[in-house]
Parts: sequence; structure tokens; C-alpha cells
Amino acid sequence: MSEYYVCTGCALLCDDIEVEIENSKIKTVHAACRKGVARMKGCSDPLECTVDGEKTDVDSAITKAAEILREAENPLIFGHGNSSSEAQKLSIGLAKKTGAYLDDTSSFCQGPVIEAILQEKLRTCTLDDIRHKADVIIFWGADPSNSHPRHLSRYSYFPRGKERQRGWEEDRTAICVDVRKSETAVICGANRFYQIPMGGDEEFMDALVSALSSKVPKTSFGFDAKRILELANVLKKAKFGVICVGLGLIYSLEDLEPLFRLIDKLNEVSEFSLMPMVGQYNMRGFNQNLYEETGFINRVKFNSETGEAKHGPEFSVVESLREKSVDAALIIGSDPLSSLPLSVSRYLADIPLITIDPCRNLTSSKAEVTIPCAFGGVEYGGTAVRMDGVEVKLKKILDTENLPDAEILRKITEAI
Ligand code: SF4
Repeated sequence: MSEYYVCTGCALLCDDIEVEIENSKIKTVHAACRKGVARMKGCSDPLECTVDGEKTDVDSAITKAAEILREAENPLIFGHGNSSSEAQKLSIGLAKKTGAYLDDTSSFCQGPVIEAILQEKLRTCTLDDIRHKADVIIFWGADPSNSHPRHLSRYSYFPRGKERQRGWEEDRTAICVDVRKSETAVICGANRFYQIPMGGDEEFMDALVSALSSKVPKTSFGFDAKRILELANVLKKAKFGVICVGLGLIYSLEDLEPLFRLIDKLNEVSEFSLMPMVGQYNMRGFNQNLYEETGFINRVKFNSETGEAKHGPEFSVVESLREKSVDAALIIGSDPLSSLPLSVSRYLADIPLITIDPCRNLTSSKAEVTIPCAFGGVEYGGTAVRMDGVEVKLKKILDTENLPDAEILRKITEAI
């Protein structure tokens, strides 16, 4: 019987992956998309264990990392999206112990949507609900053809489901709202693609709410009212609709109020849920783990004496680096020097910096301490949370000399 593994290439966490192993390496990956195959095969440029640029052993690097964190008054601990839930919980404990700022990438992407879902302000569903029931799927500011390549084939548009036996086209309508004609927009088709100008999402949502209320929809950018009314008619008839929210939508909105208005209206006339298109495989896990511990999903600062967490924008990775309010940083499975504006992230190179990662990246090239860790879902198992909040068990496929990040964090915490 075949053994199936979970791909940690994105937060879909596809659990139908088969591998062929040769000479203790993954030779062939079956069922995964191109992105997943690359992830399963590991990094081409592995990180070395170093202190001050000199190769060393893991114990020495851990001792140095503990020393940096012990001496810092306000350390920053950031990353976590590519770590197991076990590692994330240890990271939360380490942040408590050191009075650290603690944040993850949701702080500048899907955070507001996940927070609203955890606070039960937005209705959501599972990926399996979408596969079995969804007849209308809106990709709003999302391009899963590139970001989550198996989303359309495995869960949303193409597959047959219990209540969608004919699948694609005959049983489902896929709609794309975006500022550009993405590959997902091409799949949805010209008559189901609604191209709006940059920053036009709020107005388009409000126009849609008007159309759903049988009023004439208007936008300042002159979008064809007839097309908005046609779209409203499709949405009204949905038996199980879902909006897959991408970063394009989140970056366009100042707050989620327009989305609340639209979802409320949609649920007056039909039935609609929301799916956050989370990128990194366990970003949602970090949000849930921190929420359970503190009531906040990101952007916290712990008091090392009381363990109490304060929350606010000033504790985000961006603001803490911009304001230079942190004096050391531990980065786990992330590359903020590549992903944040240089004006903000440059400060990382001025403070004692520790990275834990399987692969070398720009941030690790500036770090005082680099500790290579095993690859989640390939070289160690554990638990992760899919984009829809479902917990998934990861299985180890290969042995490695590198420790899992959870083990490294446990050793650093003990050394402090
Ligand atoms: Fe892996 Fe995501 Fe591709 Fe699935 S869609 S195989 S989880 S990268």
C-alpha cells in the first residue's frame, strides 16, 4: 500500500503526496505541483552552522544565541510560518522568558482576516466544504494558479464533490475580481473576470452590495452597472458560495469593514463563507497558537516578569525595526531582509542577529549566528494548521543530521 505524505509548500498542505527515495534523497515526487516538488526536494543552498562567520558546531551556536537573547533588553522573535506548531509554541515560551517582541508574516498579510475569523466576526468553512458543496467561488485579489497551484484542481473549481458531482463549469461558477488578468482570471473566463482599478476594491464591494439590494450600482471608475447586476444575480442564486481572499484585496482595504458589509449582505440573500488564502504552510498555526495563549494573533510584546502580553502596531516587526526599539533578533524560517522594505529591514544588520533556517538566504548572510534546522514535513514530523484551520499531521520522510527547529528552540530556552 502506498504511503502518503503532506506537502509543506503552501498552506493547502496537500496530503496525497507519494515519494520515491534513492540514496537517502527524494528522487521523485508524485501528485505535488511544481512548487511542492521543489519544496520536497529541499534547498539547493543549505545553511551552515556559524558564529561570527566561522563554522562551528550546533551546541556552540546555541550557546551564543542564548547569550545574545539573554543580554538583549528587547529582543525580536520573528518568522514562524514555516515551522511546526510544536516549534511555534516553544517560540512563544522563549518570547515570554526573554520579554521579546513576537510577530510573524501575517502582520503584513492575512492577519486581519484570520483575526476576524478566530473572533467569529467572519463566516468561514473548510476546504472540504468547498470541494463538496461550493457552487460559486470568487477569487478576489487572489491568483491560486500561481500561489496555491492545486487549489483549483483539488478543492475549488475542477473537482467533483458530494453535492457537485459534475464539478467544473456544469456545477460550479468561478469568478475572479482583480486589478490584472491573472492566470486564475483566464481560467475563470472573460465573462467571469471583473477587472477593477488599483484600490477600487472597496467601491466595487459597495456597488455589489447595492446591486444585491436591488439598487443601481455605481462606481467612480465607471464600471458597467449591467455587469455588476449580472454578478449580483449569480451570487444571489448561490447555494454555497465562498470568497477566497487574496493579498490583492487585503492590501487594497484600509480595514475590513467593506468586506463585513459584503459578507453580511451576501448572507442575507444566499449563503457565503470566506477563505483566507494563507501562503506559508503554518502561518495560520502560529496565529491560532498565539491566540490561544494571549488572545492576540501577532504583534505582541511580553513582560518577562509577569508573562503578560501587550499588543499593538508598535510591536509589529515593521514598526519595531523602523523605530529601532529592538536590540537583537531571532529569525526562524523567514527572510525579512528580502521581504520587507530595505529602509525598515536594514536595521537588522546593525543588531545581533540569529537565524534558524534549513537554507541560506539574505538575512542569514548578515547574521551573527546561523543554525541550520531540518525541513518541516520532510526531515521531521509534527503538526501544522491548514489555511482553513484544520490541523494536519506532518510525517518525517528522510533522516538528517540537522535538528528540528523545535529542538533548537528548546535548547536555546534551556541555555537561557
Ligand atoms: Fe504543495 Fe501547495 Fe502545491 Fe499542494 S498546492 S502540492 S501544498 S505547494
